[in-house]
Amino acid sequence: DDAAWQARARAEFPILTANPELVYLDSAATSQKPQAVLDAVRNYLTTTNANAGRGTYPWANRTTDLVEQARERVKSFLGDPAPDRSTVHLTSGTSEGLRTVARDWLTRYLGDGDEILVPFADHQANLEPWLEAQRLLAERGAEVRVRGLPQQASGDYDHRALAEAVGPRTRFVAATHVHHVYGGDMNVHRIRAAVGPDVPICLDAAQSVGHLPLRLGGPRLDVDFVVFSGHKALALPGTGAVWARNARGPVLRPAGWHGTPNTVGAVSLLAAFDWLDAVGVDRIAAHVSDLASRLTDRLRRLDAYEVLGCPVSLAADSVLPATQRRHGIVTFRHRDIPSDDLGFILFSHGFMVRADRLCQAGADDKDGSVRVSLHVYNTGEEIDRLLAVLVALE
Ligand code: PMP
Repeated sequence: DDAAWQARARAEFPILTANPELVYLDSAATSQKPQAVLDAVRNYLTTTNANAGRGTYPWANRTTDLVEQARERVKSFLGDPAPDRSTVHLTSGTSEGLRTVARDWLTRYLGDGDEILVPFADHQANLEPWLEAQRLLAERGAEVRVRGLPQQASGDYDHRALAEAVGPRTRFVAATHVHHVYGGDMNVHRIRAAVGPDVPICLDAAQSVGHLPLRLGGPRLDVDFVVFSGHKALALPGTGAVWARNARGPVLRPAGWHGTPNTVGAVSLLAAFDWLDAVGVDRIAAHVSDLASRLTDRLRRLDAYEVLGCPVSLAADSVLPATQRRHGIVTFRHRDIPSDDLGFILFSHGFMVRADRLCQAGADDKDGSVRVSLHVYNTGEEIDRLLAVLVALE
């Protein structure tokens, strides 16, 4: 029963229980943490805290084990069908993860005349590292062409134009799984179909890990790199990972012990993934996209609001049913009220939303927008209360 499991899950977030008058609607920026994650961190720090990859006494060995377990847990959480043939690097988040792929892979394997396709209208963290790699390669005399992944105004990729853009020198495609402004499922399986089997695809999964069940290796998710932030998936800030498949030639250097890893972060990631699997990511996906659809459908009927991106009519070949295509992110503007003012008004009613330019690459967006983003703990009642305020402002 949807209401019962959701109420039980929500009750496990102490920050929400402690602040019943506030409504957290900014989970795309970072998620709140369940008691299980807080307990795991406290337990680790009060029992076996030590450094990892060095030392021979039990606390140090246990810490090394936990960090290694976290890497393996990333593989199992992502449904990696061949964990012995992939590498996981723990990072501080998606930005560092994408920079790692750019630095460790692109700059090592690309040469003069190669081309890459990257999104020009997704998160800026999924553009800057590729341009930086291009600059580094150019300094070494290798001119790499960076082209925009063809994209429509809704944020959706244009798969037909993409298929035409791919040539014999296309060596890499960077894409986004769920768009951080539009909330749409970007149909990764269609990107693979358009680029063919041999071009490595790097997926920015910052907004899908913990929200959508990822099943790597299946026909829907045939990608070579998955990059995400643990802190958006119920783990601590400063956590994240790059998963790299070793199937299509050389990948990242094996993860070693080059410095002190974020041991506490690794512990939190283990606990967060266990919690998410116990609750069920499928259930979370359905719950969150039901709430997002409820908000979108109502806002679309209010003349004062414009909902950005992700028209439901494009849902036809999404992995999920049309009603579930929007994954817990709804971004909109008011016709007359500037977005930062709308953010203040909403906070005066207890709603915490994002109200600015949302780190979107290439956005010519002076007005900004308001983003409502959801996770397992949000409720239909919260959406209805938000709508009541928005309707009153019409
Ligand atoms: N990519 C996307 C799609 C995101 O939503 C975000 C976070 N807003 C990032 C990258 C950057 O993540 P982090 O801040 O954890 O590096």
